[in-house]
Amino acid sequence: MRVVLTGGAGFVGSHIAEAFVTRGDDVVVVDNLLTGNAENLREIGDAATFLERDVTNGVEIEGPVDAVLHFASPASPPDYSAFPIATLDVGTAGTRAMLRLAAEKRARFLLASTSEIYGDPLEHPQREDYWGNVNPIGPRSVYDEAKRCAEAYTMAYHRDGLDTRIVRIFNTYGSRMRPSDGRAVPNFFSQALAGQRLTVYGDGSQTRSLCYVDDLVAGVLLLLASRETRPVNLGSPEEVTMLELARRVARLSGIAEDHIDYLPLPEDDPQRRCPDVTRALESLGWTPTTPLDEGLSRTLDWWRTIRSVRSKH
Ligand code: NAD
Ligand code: UDP
Repeated sequence: MRVVLTGGAGFVGSHIAEAFVTRGDDVVVVDNLLTGNAENLREIGDAATFLERDVTNGVEIEGPVDAVLHFASPASPPDYSAFPIATLDVGTAGTRAMLRLAAEKRARFLLASTSEIYGDPLEHPQREDYWGNVNPIGPRSVYDEAKRCAEAYTMAYHRDGLDTRIVRIFNTYGSRMRPSDGRAVPNFFSQALAGQRLTVYGDGSQTRSLCYVDDLVAGVLLLLASRETRPVNLGSPEEVTMLELARRVARLSGIAEDHIDYLPLPEDDPQRRCPDVTRALESLGWTPTTPLDEGLSRTLDWWRTIRSVRSKH
């Protein structure tokens, strides 16, 4: 296959690029490095072609393309708050431009959507037929509404005959997250390894369901190869409070579990989030297999390695 992958220099995208390269596919990564880092592609070297471009304005790709995967978008709440217009643009105009590319190439299109389209959900766990509870004017709306619009664009092209897939990704973690990207996992590991207090927002009772990146990538590849054109949740059904997550990271890192500062809860922070992954199981045969402690241990190993590499330079 020859695939175009937007956002491939970011956390999730770089793991997807690596998976394609490992199985011998030809990958063209398109990324403007807004929140990503070309270093994330170092391990796959020349096996992928890298184009530094903003996808919002469209990209010209020579030759045939079998699939377009649209992963470009800031994804961390501090990132999309720092780049609100760019986030709206890449989710809306960027999605449309990549759909146009897929249509022109007669390629399959896969959209990286998000659990954020459910907002602060009133149904639990979240099934794909739940329409969500999103504040359209709150600080998270630049991301949530852009992704909802991206799904609407994708379905409009689908009704017009394009072969499309939509994956709703729930919180994912692993190596290559930017240590300063502001999400809970990178914050907690950066803080624990620096001997700082872990910053828990609110009282830490809000929940997330954390999926290890290798499990997510396996699901994305299965979805791309499948005939399932409805949105599919990919995430872990193992729900944890953020206080419990902070304690686990502290424990694994060898610092005291109560080495925690409680800071204000950000506006509109969802209280509970957990996917119903029945559709992924029935349509793709997918279920996540990495227990949280194991995924966190592997992530901690990576964090230690990059800290020691950085301290030597
Ligand atoms: P990330 O910030 O690490 O990666 C995003 C990448 O997109 C970066 O490399 C960035 O430079 C690139 N990008 C942003 N705007 C661009 C533009 N206009 N043109 C070209 N490139 C652009 O984030 P991530 O966590 O890897 O998320 C990747 C995708 O997965 C996003 O679409 C996100 O919405 C989705 N997602 C991720 C999670 C998660 O937990 N990581 C959860 C739900 C959805
Ligand atoms: N969070 C936290 N401390 C941090 C960063 C995040 O307690 O240092 C909380 C945040 O308020 C949210 C949860 O952890 O309730 C997950 O936040 P993240 O930014 O990782 O993902 P998202 O909010 O997009 O699910």
